[in-house]
Amino acid sequence: MKKLVKNAYILTMEQEIDGRLCPPFLGEILIEADKIQAVGAHLSQQEIARAEIIDGKDCLVMPGLVNTHGHAAMSLLRGYGDDLPLNTWLFERVFPVEDKMTPEDVYWGSMVSICEMLKSGTTCFSDMYFFADALAEAVKETGIRANISRCIDHSAVKLKESCDFYTKWQGAAAGRITACLSPHSPYLCPPDFLQEMVQEAKRLGTFLNIHVAETQSEQADYLEKYGKRQVEKLGEIGFFEVPVLGAHLVHVSEAEISILAEYGVAVAHDPRSNLKLGNGIAPITKMLDKGILISIGTDSSCSNNNLDMFEEMRIAALLQKGLTGNPTVLPAGEVLTFATVNGAKALHLEQEIGTLSPGKKADMIFVDLNQLHMQPGHDKISDLVYAANGSNVKTMLVNGECLMKDYQLLHIDEERVIAEARKSAQRIVSK
Ligand SMILES: [Zn+2]
Repeated sequence: MKKLVKNAYILTMEQEIDGRLCPPFLGEILIEADKIQAVGAHLSQQEIARAEIIDGKDCLVMPGLVNTHGHAAMSLLRGYGDDLPLNTWLFERVFPVEDKMTPEDVYWGSMVSICEMLKSGTTCFSDMYFFADALAEAVKETGIRANISRCIDHSAVKLKESCDFYTKWQGAAAGRITACLSPHSPYLCPPDFLQEMVQEAKRLGTFLNIHVAETQSEQADYLEKYGKRQVEKLGEIGFFEVPVLGAHLVHVSEAEISILAEYGVAVAHDPRSNLKLGNGIAPITKMLDKGILISIGTDSSCSNNNLDMFEEMRIAALLQKGLTGNPTVLPAGEVLTFATVNGAKALHLEQEIGTLSPGKKADMIFVDLNQLHMQPGHDKISDLVYAANGSNVKTMLVNGECLMKDYQLLHIDEERVIAEARKSAQRIVSK
């Protein structure tokens, strides 16, 4: 069965020869099964015969947003321990509660996040956490796309588990699920263990997803223990011999930025989590100057506290303008590129998603242009970053399947998800 999106402004996120984004145009998108077959102002009648029509009137249709860093199940801890010092939050609030979580809790916490992501325009996300099978089941059932890894600290057993997880889930759910390996961080995983993970990643042909240089104290402690800063040490031990996606990278020196650039490390920039935890602002413009790939992540809703990628894009742009005193840095089109094209590249899915191009997967969102804060619509690209929010997303497709229509999730019992997640949350915080 073919589907035809009609009457919509289409933002493909493809680039023109001069590198600027192709401007939105009024047009049509033809979808066959899970793929985009054609995009254009007027498709030929022959091509669109017998297609199911999806009316995109008063909407802008663009590629689904790609959230490159998070921990979906932590929605169960939203608002549990806010405004506390980082170590109090982590060691007295987060870790004790996580110890009580079961696979069922991870499943319901993940379901809340998946529903929230779908409704706010995220069609693909990256996730590192424990009980990763429970998350993978939730992804399989809901129809969203995800790159999942079992996040580990220094443990041979867990490394084996995470490799087994990779083998079990890579390419599952009609290709919607991909996997990778994720050591939690350089401070929880010593250099020789990280080297072992590099070998496993090479063996499996995958990439590594890791938190790096999130806090100042973490860098200071690391320097004292290993005599080098985190990125320098990672470079020295061969960690970047495989592709790496690094989350945060807030406290990195000029030398470290050069190392990241040299090895083509992709960055998951999580500005709201970094701000809320008092960790600072990542030097994104300096990374861009060196040609580093920047993508956007929300981190978990325990440190953010929502998964709205529109808000994340806006904060990312505003912070760098404020930090540099230069309003021309991170223009709207570039930030949209971070959240779509670059997100796809960071997760090694650029052949499949990131732009609305013939041959790619039909992952797309319909942004409602009829809301007050989107008026009068002089510059739709600018409005997406500086005015829109997640609740502008009206309809969405992943892998050619409509998962939300007119603001309603079609295949998920949202009331049940909320009820079960509340039950899980109550249980894990009770003494
Ligand atoms: Zn994280």
